[in-house]
Amino acid sequence: MRQKIVAGNWKMNGSLVDNEALLKGVVDGTAGLKGVVCCSPYPYLFQMQKALSGTHVAWGAQNLSQYDKGAYTGEVSASMLNDFGCSYVIIGHSERRAIFGETSVMVAEKFKAAKDAGLIPILCLGETLAERESGATFAVVGEQLEAVTGFVGVEALEDAVLAYEPVWAIGTGRTATPEQAQEVHRHLRERIAHLSAEVAGHVRILYGGSVKASNAAELFAMPDIDGGLIGGASLISGDFCEICRAAA
Ligand code: PEP
Repeated sequence: MRQKIVAGNWKMNGSLVDNEALLKGVVDGTAGLKGVVCCSPYPYLFQMQKALSGTHVAWGAQNLSQYDKGAYTGEVSASMLNDFGCSYVIIGHSERRAIFGETSVMVAEKFKAAKDAGLIPILCLGETLAERESGATFAVVGEQLEAVTGFVGVEALEDAVLAYEPVWAIGTGRTATPEQAQEVHRHLRERIAHLSAEVAGHVRILYGGSVKASNAAELFAMPDIDGGLIGGASLISGDFCEICRAAA
């Protein structure tokens, strides 16, 4: 049995005051659950560390540099995330690929930097609406996946996490149906199985894209969906906790 994970991606939202209430709500509202993760903007990692240390809730960042240290103005390294107790880091979110020009090569390098530092990468994969409508979904997610496995080897996925996030479903209110999501999750697992059946059996594949308290349970009931990466709904503690409970 794969332990399901529900990870909140706060994106560029939050404030010291709002986060305090949100984190308290998540800790209290998910008591007794496993696999609960919150990913905040960098400046709030210290606050996360203070609020979540010693609780059942893990935390992480939404990006990291592929470089270790040095003259990379504005960047944050994996070892800095370690300093703030992060367990997880989101890699290759579609917003980073589309808005900040992250290529598959950069994503693979970032994945490696995370693994080398002992962080658990949450590697995001997903197609645009145009790609889906032209029948290219499997080719697109396959290329995104293989850019990483080709660079680090399939074994590096063993205790990593994948997140299938169709771009057309992120922040749009339009969720993939459980069947649409399951089809892609199964395809990803089959691709990995061609390289290693053992890794394919262990790797967690989350679904992300307008997951809400009202649709989480039916998505998480699918055999290859191992939880969710949650954007908007992770900012409302009641909604996020209900989604976490749907994965229990
Ligand atoms: C995300 O940001 O990864 C995401 C899935 O966002 P939302 O849940 O708001 O669609």
